[in-house]
Amino acid sequence: MKEEILGVQVNTENYDELIPKVFQNIEEKKKSLVVAINPEKLMKAKEDPELKALLNRAEFQIPDGIGVIIASKLQKGNITSRVTGVDMMDRIVREAARTQKAIFLYGAKPGVAEKAAQKLLDTYPDLIVAGTQDGYEKDTRKVIETINQAKPDILFVAMGSPKQEQWIEKYRDELHPILYQGVGGSFDVLAG
Ligand code: UDP
Repeated sequence: MKEEILGVQVNTENYDELIPKVFQNIEEKKKSLVVAINPEKLMKAKEDPELKALLNRAEFQIPDGIGVIIASKLQKGNITSRVTGVDMMDRIVREAARTQKAIFLYGAKPGVAEKAAQKLLDTYPDLIVAGTQDGYEKDTRKVIETINQAKPDILFVAMGSPKQEQWIEKYRDELHPILYQGVGGSFDVLAG
């Protein structure tokens, strides 16, 4: 279910309800993008119709940020709990390990994605990490090739918002992964 907040579609489900839907799309090979909606992004979208359209085209818009919950409450909506980008990533990674879907981490400064991957492997030893790539490689062709050759099912992109979402949308047709999530500074958080 979705609810519109300041012209942007936002999912009303909690983590437990969202994860099966996200993985159903993976099973059906339906390419999907998960974007985290917070008040900052809603404000940017208000000024930028193209960004707003991009956010609305995503398959999943998770209610990140308490401001989104408050806005829903004010319009007597159905969003009652936060679904943060970093927690959603963790849930997706956990389910990926359980169902043996491979992940790829793209973004952050050199070395950070590898470190983040190691932390995830410490938590989920069964996880399949297909590869990592820092977010400062200028040769986009090379990046796309690296990702596709690694054959991940899931691509996490950590290049800040909305840059990461714009990158995913621009190259989505050429990229082979099925599920995409823009995760902002999450690799830095994970790497510690
Ligand atoms: N980043 C990147 N490539 C770029 C610009 C930024 O990989 O060209 C990375 C940066 O190293 C950081 C992440 O994007 O790990 C998130 O940056 P920021 O904290 O500014 O984004 P936010 O979380 O606020 O969306």
